[in-house]
Formats: sequence, C-alpha cells, structure tokens
Amino acid sequence: RNENFTNTLQQKDRENVWHHISMYNEKAPPMIVEHGDGAWITDSGGNRFLDGMSGLWAVNVGYGRERLAQVAYEQMKKLSYVPMTQSHQPAIALAEKLNRLLEEDYMIFYSNSGSDANEVAFKMARQYHAQNGEGARFKIISRYRAYHGSSLGALAATGQALRKYKYEPLAPGFLHVAPPDNYRRPKGQSIELYNLERAREIEEKIIWEHKETIAAVIMEPIITGGGVLIPHAIYVKEVERICQKYGVLLIIDEVICGFGRTGRLFGHQHFAIKPDIITMAKGLTSAYLPLSITAVRKDIYEKFKDTDGYSHFRHVNTFGGNPAACAVALENIKILEEEKLVQRSKDLGEQLLHDLQDLLELPFVGDIRGLGFLVGIELVEDKLTLEPAKPERVAKIIADCKANGLIIGKNGDTVEGYNNILTLSPPLCCTDEDLEFISAVLKKVFAANA
Ligand code: PMP
Repeated sequence: RNENFTNTLQQKDRENVWHHISMYNEKAPPMIVEHGDGAWITDSGGNRFLDGMSGLWAVNVGYGRERLAQVAYEQMKKLSYVPMTQSHQPAIALAEKLNRLLEEDYMIFYSNSGSDANEVAFKMARQYHAQNGEGARFKIISRYRAYHGSSLGALAATGQALRKYKYEPLAPGFLHVAPPDNYRRPKGQSIELYNLERAREIEEKIIWEHKETIAAVIMEPIITGGGVLIPHAIYVKEVERICQKYGVLLIIDEVICGFGRTGRLFGHQHFAIKPDIITMAKGLTSAYLPLSITAVRKDIYEKFKDTDGYSHFRHVNTFGGNPAACAVALENIKILEEEKLVQRSKDLGEQLLHDLQDLLELPFVGDIRGLGFLVGIELVEDKLTLEPAKPERVAKIIADCKANGLIIGKNGDTVEGYNNILTLSPPLCCTDEDLEFISAVLKKVFAANA
C-alpha cells in the first residue's frame, strides 16, 4: 500500500460522503479505518491506533469479536426481520436478561439509536401524565452541557448551545439547569453543599414553572460528552427525591454510562436510585449493530393499559428490535459477564487515574477525574482563574497523541470557549500492555507540550 491508495480514498470520500462534525476530523481529513482488533484500529495505510474513545464511546467489548459476527450471521440466515408489531425470541430473551440485570421490573421498548430511545422516553413521559389524568404535563428538565441526541426532541434536551443554535426552533417545552461541575464550584464551598444547591435548582425550576406542567427530568448519571462531570451522590439522590415529591418522572440516560463504562453495569447503580425510565444504546451491542432500548418501570407501563389489557403507545419504528441486533446484544452482554469486563473497567480506570496523577503538576492541567474506564482531563490556561485552555492547545495535544498512536477525544462543540476537557473512554477489553501504552503516550505528549 502506498500513500496514493489513502489519498485516492480520501479524495473520493471528500467528494461523496457528508460527515457529521466529529471530534477528530476538524482539520485533518478523516482517517479511512479498515480493520479493528481488541482496542486497536488500523487505517488504510496500515497504521495502528489504540482507540481511546471506543469509536464514539461505544465499542465496549472491543473490535473483531468473531462471536458477535457469528451470532449476527446465524440470526440473519434464520430470520432476518420481524416488525415489533409481532415478537421474536431474541427480543424476548434480551428483555428478560435486562430485567434480571436491572433488578427491577421494567418493560423494554426497542428502537435504533440513543436519540430514538430518548425521544421514546419523552413521549412516554408526556403520555403517562395524560393517562394519569394529570392534564398537560409536558415540560422536560435537562442540564446544560448534557448531550442527549441529535433529533429535534433529543437535541432540545441537549444543553450544548453550539449543537443547537442553527437548527432552532427545536421541540418546545425543554428547560435547562446547570449541572454540578465540582472542579469549578465556588471557592471554599463544600462539594456536598454545592451539589445540594445544584439539585435544588431543579426543584426551583419545577416550582417556578408550576409542577403541573413538568413531565420529567432527564439526566446521565455522569455527564460524559459534556466533560466527564461526576456528581456527588448527594446530588443524584436529591434529584430522585425531588422528582418523587412532585410526581415528575426521572429518566436516566445510560447511552454512554451503561454496560460497564463507569465500573458498574449501569451508571445509576453507583447512586442506588430507581429510575422511572432508563435509556440505553451504544454499549448495548458494543456498536456491532444499531439497537437501543427505553426501559420503563412496570407500574408506569400499567397506567397505559387499555381495556384489552395492553398498554398502548404510538411510536412505530421499522428497524427497532431487529432480531440480529437483539441476538448480538445478548451475546455482547455474555462477553461482558464471562470476561468480567465491568470489574475490569473499574480496575483499568483506577490504574489510569493513578498513572496520570503526576500530570496535575503541569501548569495547564487543572483536573483529572474519572469513574470506571472513563476519564476527563481538564486543561486550563491558569490554575487560579480556571480560564479554559485555548482550543489550539487542546487540538495540539489530541494531534500529538494521534501521531503517537493514541486516539483521544474532547468534549466536542459544547459552548464557545469551553472545549477544554480531554476524554478517554477506551474499550473495556484493554490489556495491561494497552493501558501502559495509553499512560506512556499521554505522559510523553503532556511533557512535550509543557
Ligand atoms: N445520549 C447520550 C448520553 C449520548 O452520548 C448520545 C450519543 N453520543 C446519545 C444519547 C444519542 O445516541 P445516538 O447517537 O445513538 O442517537
């Protein structure tokens, strides 16, 4: 393979493929990726990179799993498609399996993407209150900096201005409050009090907007794409309490946090809460096939019941619950269990945080935080004022990591001036050598940029 091969592909790509603005291709042409194995991907020139972002936070069990390809192949041969107006064994088995894992009674509604799953959750929350005879409780409270998807409802829930402002008006009825950002909390304030105040902001919103207009609160257990913001447990428990107090449904977005990323199977399990609705995608199939889920507490499902004994919810989607995708999800969960990848996520993350501690001595490294194999490194220009690092500094570090064979991310287009948090979310199947590689590259690149 010579360079011409890649150049030709990139030229054809440029002429024919419209990419979304991704975190990695702002200046350089997109890499043509040809092959993946374990935590590594190989480009068209034969260069190998450790994928420190698992694609888009998704390939939890790693690339090149024969078992997943085999299961998809067998299922497609046997039965390629059933619309979810009917049912099939992989969909039933997966729903049963998830219910065991969630340790609560949920009904499983299938769709295709994280955005879909959140749209479904919003529609369900609105219909739930109507079914409950509560009239038009339609508003959804979300947080600034959170990302919940790209469709007009999920984008309305998203709290990242730069993703939204060219597409407005989005779906009406979405409100935002500030999330806890412990690193940037007022100097001298305790984490507990600060987190309590952030939660109380949700309560105030409910009161000022009138509780009878609020349908739900949506949040990720940890804000991931918005900068790895890990709340104190007090915050999450308090939000749950507030939701219960006002009859507001609590939707937990596990699209990234789910399936082991944070060192528990689901992110919300760190906080011992019982969400009313849980959305999942990405790690559900480790992105081998598209599939998403909106899991709804059975007592909520019951409220939708008609005289025929079924709960009616109008949301048809052609591909949702695709048999091959469900079969792959089941096998993917089996791999997580057999290889103890959830525990592995916790161990790898702890080791990585430990390895990176010395970086905090550098003048531009403000904070390093993480939970499970999910790490954020906040870069600043000044440790006293916490002025966010300039985009050039952030871009340079990302480019240098890539030049050394490591792909990392940053919190993408969120708010002007705040693209300063590097993110790491590598496959949970990383070997000890892979982890050493990640640490070594980061240390080398940070030292060179000091
Ligand atoms: N929720 C969260 C927390 C996400 O990170 C994403 C995707 N990055 C979504 C929802 C939307 O998922 P999808 O891209 O599959 O629509």
